[in-house]
Amino acid sequence: LFRALSLSFTVLAATLPAIAQDGAHKHTYQSDVARLRKIVINSLYSHRDVFLRELISNANDAIEKLRLTSLTEPMVLSGAESMNITLRAFKEEDGTTKLVVRDTGIGMTPDELRANLGTLAKSGTSEFLARAEKTDTTGTGNLIGAFGLGFYSSFLVADKVYVASIAAKTPANPEPVQYVFASSADDSTFEVYPDPRGNTLGRGTEITMVLKEDALEYTDTVKVTELVNKHSSFATQFPIYLFTER
Ligand code: ADP
Ligand code: MG
Repeated sequence: LFRALSLSFTVLAATLPAIAQDGAHKHTYQSDVARLRKIVINSLYSHRDVFLRELISNANDAIEKLRLTSLTEPMVLSGAESMNITLRAFKEEDGTTKLVVRDTGIGMTPDELRANLGTLAKSGTSEFLARAEKTDTTGTGNLIGAFGLGFYSSFLVADKVYVASIAAKTPANPEPVQYVFASSADDSTFEVYPDPRGNTLGRGTEITMVLKEDALEYTDTVKVTELVNKHSSFATQFPIYLFTER
């Protein structure tokens, strides 16, 4: 399922600029999210490999959701051809290094970006928080398997995370608009705003992580391949492609 794909960088779509947004787009995380993010960022350093498994698992869920929805609503398939997940890492002109996980799944509306990434609806989360806050780092690590960290684990390796997403077309939403959710690891707020690049995805979601200085190992295709093979290759029914430099 896991295939390496060689492509030169010139074919890549422009990446997200770190533009300052006006206050109208600013939101404050629900308090449980703030707690969870704090635990993730402060206590799970030695378990940070998990972020890739979590993001691929979300991508897989989103494509599976698209596939199931398409059985009764074929319109959702428009926008992009195949159902796949792509990973790519590259260095920006400003010196930052980015890792991008992209899927051609069901996508999210701006309201869904806010609700799914800014609040915690998951059952068991409060229990996780209560237990994690009482235990030491090792104990917290053991809780990961039981609960899963989800999207917030991206902040283990990234100072800043951008989630660009466009909802799948439906009769009720025939002209979806691509939006961005943006948040920093050290911030209690996040922003949701129309993607200044326009619709670059066609369909699905693109997670862009501005990697921490000490997390540059995740640009190493050997390391990434190893992680994907170890944690994700059997959990995914859709192909995963890795962009490599040529
Ligand atoms: P979980 O996957 O357990 O629900 P996560 O924190 O991993 O928790 O993700 C939270 C929610 O955000 C998901 O349930 C989903 O609704 C949404 N989400 C995350 N990643 C994606 C994605 N790639 N495509 C569409 N929706 C996503
Ligand atoms: Mg998840």
